[in-house]
Amino acid sequence: MGRSFKILPLIIAAVVILFQYLGSNKFRDPETGKVHRGALSSGDEAALGLQSYQEVLSTSDVVSSGPDVDLVTRVARRLIPATGDVANDFQWEVSVVRSPQVNAFCLPGGKIVVYTGIIPLAQNEAGLATVMGHEMAHATLHHGSQRLLKQGLMQTAMMGAAAATGSMDNGKRQMVMAALAGGAQFGILLPFSRDQESEADHTGLLYMARAGFDPHEAITFWERMSKSGGAHPPAFMSDHPSDGARIERLKEEMPKAQAAYEQAQSR
Ligand SMILES: [Zn+2]
Repeated sequence: MGRSFKILPLIIAAVVILFQYLGSNKFRDPETGKVHRGALSSGDEAALGLQSYQEVLSTSDVVSSGPDVDLVTRVARRLIPATGDVANDFQWEVSVVRSPQVNAFCLPGGKIVVYTGIIPLAQNEAGLATVMGHEMAHATLHHGSQRLLKQGLMQTAMMGAAAATGSMDNGKRQMVMAALAGGAQFGILLPFSRDQESEADHTGLLYMARAGFDPHEAITFWERMSKSGGAHPPAFMSDHPSDGARIERLKEEMPKAQAAYEQAQSR
């Protein structure tokens, strides 16, 4: 009986992971000073963002004028300058899509899409600024690119593990692979997405405050969202679980946002 576990594929995977990591792009978050790594350069991100934007618009009912477009454009015009130098190379653009979906997103490079379904829940300009500020922060913080890098590294690790266990008994091998995949999901990707959510909340809160929207409205908005959950939570909620912890964190960050808001008022 030969060895059922091979070490060489793991060594190769580790070397590939190292190169993937070292070849990745660094981004500095100006709000926290933290340096992050992402899979794509800003230029590649923007090109992909533009492509997705055009795809979404070509398959959606785009609203070209009217009160919803005026509202969304007005909020975007105030939020964009509040993002600062981090988005200097962004080509901001905003579109409104007629759809009952409670959704909004901002693609890498600054292409924003707001669905009319989220407007009644946003209720007012500050509510909409909460949603849009949060989504814009995901883009300025390069969250998509960071996620791609993590997924790529994990994929390499899984390929290494698959090769390393290639000659194991099939049942045992499936157990090992399932345990690794589960561990990656619950130990790495899910906490990562929770971290990204609180980063986007924090940065989005500063954006809205600097743009002159009352940051306290963010708390009211998330409280409203959590009540609207129910049996069929809207699409936006599945990506943005509105738990008590998130609202508590926002309250902790409020003094800094309040100061930014007051500064914006006095200008
Ligand atoms: Zn989010």
